[in-house]
Order: sequence, then C-alpha cells, then structure tokens
Amino acid sequence: MSDTVTETAAVAAPAIRFEDFGLSPDVLRALSEQGYVHPTPIQAQAIPVVLQGRDVMGAAQTGTGKTAGFSLPIIQLLLAHANTSASPARHPVRALILTPTRELADQVADNVKSYCRFTPLRSTVVFGGVDMAPQTAALRAGVEIVIATPGRLLDHVQQKTLNLSQTQILVMDEADRMLDMGFLPDLQRIINLLPKKRQNLMFSATFSPEIKKLAGSFQNDPITIEVARSNATAERVTQTIYKVNDDAKGDAVSFIIRERALKQVIVFSNSKIGASKLARQMENEGIVASAIHGDKSQNERMAALEAFKQGQIQVLVATDVAARGLDITDLPCVINYDLPYNAEDYVHRIGRTGRAGASGDAISLFTEKDERLLVDIEKLIKKKFERAELVGFKPRQRGGDRPERSSSDRGEPRAQRGERTERSDRGERTERSSISNLGSSRREGGAPSPRREKVDPWFLKPYEPSTGETLVEKPEVASKSVKSRQKVAALLGGGPKR
Ligand code: AMP
Repeated sequence: MSDTVTETAAVAAPAIRFEDFGLSPDVLRALSEQGYVHPTPIQAQAIPVVLQGRDVMGAAQTGTGKTAGFSLPIIQLLLAHANTSASPARHPVRALILTPTRELADQVADNVKSYCRFTPLRSTVVFGGVDMAPQTAALRAGVEIVIATPGRLLDHVQQKTLNLSQTQILVMDEADRMLDMGFLPDLQRIINLLPKKRQNLMFSATFSPEIKKLAGSFQNDPITIEVARSNATAERVTQTIYKVNDDAKGDAVSFIIRERALKQVIVFSNSKIGASKLARQMENEGIVASAIHGDKSQNERMAALEAFKQGQIQVLVATDVAARGLDITDLPCVINYDLPYNAEDYVHRIGRTGRAGASGDAISLFTEKDERLLVDIEKLIKKKFERAELVGFKPRQRGGDRPERSSSDRGEPRAQRGERTERSDRGERTERSSISNLGSSRREGGAPSPRREKVDPWFLKPYEPSTGETLVEKPEVASKSVKSRQKVAALLGGGPKR
C-alpha cells in the first residue's frame, strides 16, 4: 500500500517558501539566483517526502517544476557527503537520474548544475550519439550526481568508466516515455546494478499498468504524489466541445480561428493525411498554416516549427506523435480537429495550453460518430462536457468551392502514397507504435538498431527555448493573414545548450 498526496493546482503555492524546507543556505542561494521563491505544488509535495528518504511515485509532467522537486532534496541529502577532495574516490556516484532523451537529460543536468553551484557536489550528464571520451573524463574525475539516458549509461558501465555500487538514490524521470521507447530491459539491467538499499523516485506523466508494474518491481512503499494533470488542466483550461458534421470540420476550424482572432494555435489531427489536408485548406483560406507529421521531411518539420515559434505561422496542424516531445508553454489555444482515439491523448493535447499558471482554451470538434470517444474522455477527466453548437457557423456548400487538392490527396490508395494513419486501435500501423518498437537498447545514439530507422529522433526532441514573448517582423510568407508585428506565445523547452 502506498500513501497518496494529491495536489490539483499547477502553480506555485505562495503560502510556502523554499526556506521552509530546511534547505541549506547554498541551495537557497542558488534558488534565489534563479528567481524562485515559492515551490510549485509538485515541489511543495515532493521535497519534504524525498528529504525523509521515502520512495516517491510522482504523477507529473514536464512543466510542473518536477525537476527541482526531486533535484533539490537529492542535493540536500547528498550534502552530507559533499567534500572538496580532488580524489575521484571521494566523489562516488550517489544519485542517478535516468531520462528517456538526451535533450531531457541535458535539461535536467543544467538544472542540477545550477542548484549545486554553491556546493562542492559534482554532477555530469551522459547520453548517446556523442563522443564518449569527455563523458568518461568527467566520470573518472568523480561525480556525485549522474544524469543519463539508459543506453549510454550501460555503455559506460560496460567500459568500467562508471561504478554504481554506491548509488543511494535512483530517479526515473518521464518513466512512461522510457517504456514507450523500449527502455524497459535497460532499466531492469540498471536497477540490478544498484545497491539493494536505496531511495527510488519515479516520475511519469501517465500511470499505465506497465508503469505501475515497473514501479512495483523496484519501489519500496512509495508515496504517490499527484499534481493531477487532468484536474489541473480542467481548472486552468477552458474546454469547449462543438458538435459539427464530419465534412464541415475544416470550415469549423477556420471559423473558430477567425471568430476568436486566434494568433497562434495548434490543431490536432488524428491522421497525417488529415493534417496535410487541413493545413492546405487553411492556406487556401488565407490562414498561414503548416502541418507537421511523420511523413514530412525533417527539414520541413523543423522549418514549420521554427516558423510557428517565430509567429510566422498562425496554425500548426499536428499529429500526436509529431507534437510529442515539444514542451510548449503559453500557447493560448489548441483545437482538436479530430477527437483523439486515446482519451489520454486528449489530456496531453490540451495540456499544451494553460501551462505555467496561464489560462488557455481547448476547443474540440466532435461529430455524431465520436460520441464514444467523448465519453471516454469524460470518464478520464471526470468531467461532463456540454455539447455546444458553433453559433454563427455556416459550413460552405460542398462542390465547386472545394479547396484545390494536391497530388498527394487526389485519391491514390494510401499504401501507394506511403501514408499511414496514426490510429493504434484498429491495427493500422502507427507512428506511435514505431516509437514503441525501437528495441531495447542504445536507442539514444549507440550502435544502430535496424528498427530505429522508423523513428526520426527529431520527434523526441523538445523545443529549444525561446526567451519569452517576442515581437517579430512579418515575413513574406506570412503576408496573407498574420499581422506585421505579432505577439506570439513563447515556446519553451529543453533544447541542448551546447
Ligand atoms: P520542469 O517541470 O522541472 O521542467 O520545470 C518547468 C519550468 O519551471 C522550468 O523552466 C523551471 O526552471 C521552472 N521552475 C521550476 N520550479 C520553479 C519555481 N519554484 N518557481 C518558478 N519557476 C520554476
């Protein structure tokens, strides 16, 4: 049995201050230099529990402040061992933080480094796809905290550049994503390398049966801490559901965009072809739009995202998989052109808006045949939607005024075009499943795996942070409908800082 602490808001809890946790002045100084005064809810819940030495199962996604939630108490606990000796033996690896991607590893490592900077504790990051030599040198010099992706960590263990026999704290960050990426065997191998007596912290955005099974296999009487995403989003995000006819959904999206004068919006489509068609329809109607999905080249996707980030693109039509790994904050609105087949994806999608304490709008279109999907979502988020009519909306008469169609959607059979839908519940090949099938090891840059080619690592890469709200000049391409100087939402994420 485990205790549960549930927190439903995702903003800093002003009643509590970091000083209240009894953190060392060196850690507090680092926090104050970061400008952090009040802990976020996950921090308020996790810090005291981790300081007590308890295992934690944290239901929290990136953007909640979970990194500091586990890093700060770990640093505090490790301060008991901190020393300024030059001897590597005096700096054994005492805490291991595992992350699914190199970008997240890098982001966590940056945070840890900044929180440790006034302490003698050392930290380093290891991930695949880059030269091992500098990592080896850092590990050989001795570090108390290692942030790693699983495959490269095992490479270092194998090469005996890393010894985990004194690791007393294990963190699995974004555990659900690690399982999605096929890291389970590596995680099990790593757990077997650690001392039996240790503290285990696991953070995951979702708690599937697989995650619970993994947690049960290595955690000891964990305290469950939930920054309940569904509740948090429900509180912060205005969710609207409009009933429309299937063939009027594209028109409804452009109507909503115009009606609400939306400047920056992500529209979710369940299929790649649907995403492309919708983006094209938007373009034909003078709304600057672009689609990102797995059949677009990496350059096309990067260009589209960059343009969206810069405010040059008003509407980004995305599939779930393409949007995955993008840590986007301050996005004012998301639209579900299609309701997702998987109710959890609904939460992921609407979590793109209303983050970091901001408010947001999540607008979903639903057709008669989507009733079951809507009910699934309602069950998951424990909220009943009002099925509203889109007042004032008049779909165009279908026929002569259909948008021009390009060669890619003139009716060739799907297989011929090499297009795949992303439905996972109908046995069709999915981008998601290809991510899940990466194989067990070395995905983050070690020896190539034959199945790896299916996945473009770009999908797993969080967005490089922007500095915040920006005013950008209107580019030529945006001339149709983006105002010349447009205030855009900031897109934040964990891009490498190297
Ligand atoms: P995370 O969920 O750990 O990726 O953190 C999300 C963002 O919130 C990061 O940019 C952090 O730097 C920031 N952050 C974390 N804790 C706090 C805090 N207590 N106050 C303000 N910002 C924070």
